[in-house]
Amino acid sequence: LFITFEGVDGSGKTTQLQRLNAYVMSLGRNALVTREPGGTSAGLVIRELLLHGISSFPSLAVLGASDVVEHGSDLNDKAEALLYAADRAQHVNEVIRPALDRGDVVLCDRYIDSSLAYQAGGRELRDSKILDISTWATDGLMPRRTYLMDMDPAESHKRLEHQLDRIEVEGSDFQNRTRERFLELAQGDPQRYLIIDANQSVEAIWQIVHDDFDALIAQ
Ligand code: C5P
Ligand code: MG
Repeated sequence: LFITFEGVDGSGKTTQLQRLNAYVMSLGRNALVTREPGGTSAGLVIRELLLHGISSFPSLAVLGASDVVEHGSDLNDKAEALLYAADRAQHVNEVIRPALDRGDVVLCDRYIDSSLAYQAGGRELRDSKILDISTWATDGLMPRRTYLMDMDPAESHKRLEHQLDRIEVEGSDFQNRTRERFLELAQGDPQRYLIIDANQSVEAIWQIVHDDFDALIAQ
């Protein structure tokens, strides 16, 4: 059973994922908690490059690549999209599929929808391309259920002091496009998604996730 959590930064995905992990284990089932980007060791390197740039790799300076270090931090939008897809290919093959094959419940913090929302919605790359590279990377593996934590990015960012630099870099138009794209995706596929108003209390949201998960495993 493959479950993903999606939503803008600071919408509370990780908190609910941890609650669900504890619940799954209390039922005596194995759960695997993972995330994107960065669910594998190769993925962690990709995550560092994506989120913190080339300065995360001081060894490159030692190799004398000071030009690269100086000019390499501005990732091209397409390069960024491909790096998220590369992270996903490694993640699906190394971690997610093996866990699903063992019968684990896989709980993943972000997946394909984040690429569609950020790289297509936010960066305005073509949807069909983002979907193509992601589908290719995963051989079409899709979650059975996606919990979308929906929230106004302006609200969620109040919770995220440590990520304020990123928000300033992208600006609120980018963040709003991302939220809207998440909602469009979810509204287009009510079989897979559950849209949750993330302004509710952690307890209220957990009740919704819990009840939905119970219904899912009873099927
Ligand atoms: O969820 P987490 O905080 O680990 O995400 C790391 C960052 O990567 C977030 O700021 C998120 O907006 C960004 N991201 C992205 N495109 C994706 C996945 C994550 O821009 N496909
Ligand atoms: Mg999180």
